[in-house]
Amino acid sequence: MVAIILDGKKTAQEIQKELSLKVKELKKKEVTPGVAVIRVGEDPSSLIYVRNKNKKAQEMGIYFEEHALTESISQGKLTDLIEQLNKNSKIDGIVLQLPLPRHFDEKRMLETISPEKDVDGFHPLNMGRLLKGDPSFIPATPRGIVELLDRYKIPLGGKRAVVVGRSDIVGKPLAFLLLARNATVTICHSKTKDLSLITREGDILVVAIGKPEFIKEKMVKESSVIIDVGINRIGNRIVGDVDFNRIKEKVSHITPVPGGVGPMTIIMLLKNVLEAAENWKLRK
Ligand code: NAP
Repeated sequence: MVAIILDGKKTAQEIQKELSLKVKELKKKEVTPGVAVIRVGEDPSSLIYVRNKNKKAQEMGIYFEEHALTESISQGKLTDLIEQLNKNSKIDGIVLQLPLPRHFDEKRMLETISPEKDVDGFHPLNMGRLLKGDPSFIPATPRGIVELLDRYKIPLGGKRAVVVGRSDIVGKPLAFLLLARNATVTICHSKTKDLSLITREGDILVVAIGKPEFIKEKMVKESSVIIDVGINRIGNRIVGDVDFNRIKEKVSHITPVPGGVGPMTIIMLLKNVLEAAENWKLRK
């Protein structure tokens, strides 16, 4: 058996077309969705992510503003900028590109973003709503994963889902989304004992750990669905957290890296921006 490739690039392009039509409709009502991205310092991955977000936003007719700040900027100045953007009516969504340089209190900075403009869904209020099963903004990567599964008509109800990685941006929110969709969810992390015993039970296995090709063929269940969130640079190659070439012979569906979860993440962030604009500008 060779797995069906869950093509995030193609799916994201389809969603982009749908969203671009919605942006056109909004513009007829004189609403232009707008997003501001704040980048502090020169983290090379952040530079690429912001460039990609900018490009997609422009293609879709979403107003995009980038605030590139030097690493030496004070926390007070960053707070002032976020507060200005909170009040700026052109801006529906604020993205604070992570990681911040070490001298920033990341948690406090994220909490400064108004929950109504928190399109990344990282504010504790939005996280709490997600946990309660009544989400406002769903973090883009987990949302993209569930959307990809839905578009490929992969059922979640009653399935055993194993999520490896418990970060606030991927593992934890994804686990709650899968739970809300009636999967039976297990979360694993670096202290999990006998990891492969658990991963082998997953009908759906999601891996978000940032370790190149860490998940091997013997760690996955036959005919399962594998979602690889990892982005690892090895020289000039990018690989995921799973050993794609071997595993694809054993499972029913698998995401490639690149071209799987990554493109879905960007498009879901922009979907959140659009929904923020619909929510707040159309309601006024
Ligand atoms: P993170 O904050 O570094 O968290 C990594 C998680 O993996 C932690 O929960 C850690 O456990 C767990 N872990 C580490 N080593 C492990 C091991 N040997 N066995 C089991 N669990 C282990 O990572 P993240 O931000 O979620 O990102 C994870 C990966 O996804 C990275 O490669 C990142 O670049 C990528 N990513 C991709 C996208 C995308 O759009 N495709 C989006 C976000 C992130 P502890 O909690 O015990 O430390």
